[in-house]
Amino acid sequence: MDKSILDKINKFTRRTLSENEVYVFSVILCDNDIDRDCERFSEKALDTLREKFIGKTGIFDHDTSTANQNARIFDTELITDDSRLTQYGKPYVYLKAMAYMVRTDENKNLIAEIDGGIKKEVSISCSAARRICSVCGNDKNINTCNHVKGKIYGGKLCHNVLDDITDAYEWSFVAVPAQVNAGVTKKYSDDTAVKSQARDIQLCDDELRRDIRRFAYFAGGRAAADIASISAANMNTQQLIALRKSFEAQCGKAKTEVQLEYSAKSEDTAESFTMK
Ligand SMILES: [Zn+2]
Repeated sequence: MDKSILDKINKFTRRTLSENEVYVFSVILCDNDIDRDCERFSEKALDTLREKFIGKTGIFDHDTSTANQNARIFDTELITDDSRLTQYGKPYVYLKAMAYMVRTDENKNLIAEIDGGIKKEVSISCSAARRICSVCGNDKNINTCNHVKGKIYGGKLCHNVLDDITDAYEWSFVAVPAQVNAGVTKKYSDDTAVKSQARDIQLCDDELRRDIRRFAYFAGGRAAADIASISAANMNTQQLIALRKSFEAQCGKAKTEVQLEYSAKSEDTAESFTMK
């Protein structure tokens, strides 16, 4: 093994490992071709992933993976294969990673499998802030357009181009290779996920504000409820939880139970309890 390889590995280890202690292998993390979800990474995205995946731990989706069977990426490289074109006619570019495992009795069999070429299918997880329509250039994370991925427009396959990678989380070896491209799959969170998360937070905040108003009412009557509502209006989730806790403490457990029973029976509107 080249000493420079061992040096790179030892940047990530707590103690200096010797050549005999490590197992080094390469994986293809992702590429620039259109995948089975009709999506692809932009070349800028691949370059960001190249930087972000260094040091990232990979996990093995392995039936006997009770033991510690982690690998870590210590080097990455973008490679252009001029002999192969993507579906949209550009040279094929892929992100290759070098990973290492510390050899143990537990991962002996796994290493033999990797050596035998069995477990080379990789799945990656990352965040893409932009999902660009290949037909019109619209960012589908922000606006919708009428182009449907997988359909043909002007003789070209409509697909989404994933761009602006904000984070790379993990990579894993998957047991079933059912993909089109070199055994590469990807998971990513896009803005849609973020939006639905924001909606969930909004719903949760609204519920907290209702609780706070109810608790304040039981603690100090209508005027207290109004004041609590006003101060809760601009609080974030954490502040709301803290405020609810303090009201909860003020009201005491018995009152809380009465109040919760009441709210369960009533229509859940902020004012309903004042009718009592
Ligand atoms: Zn479009």
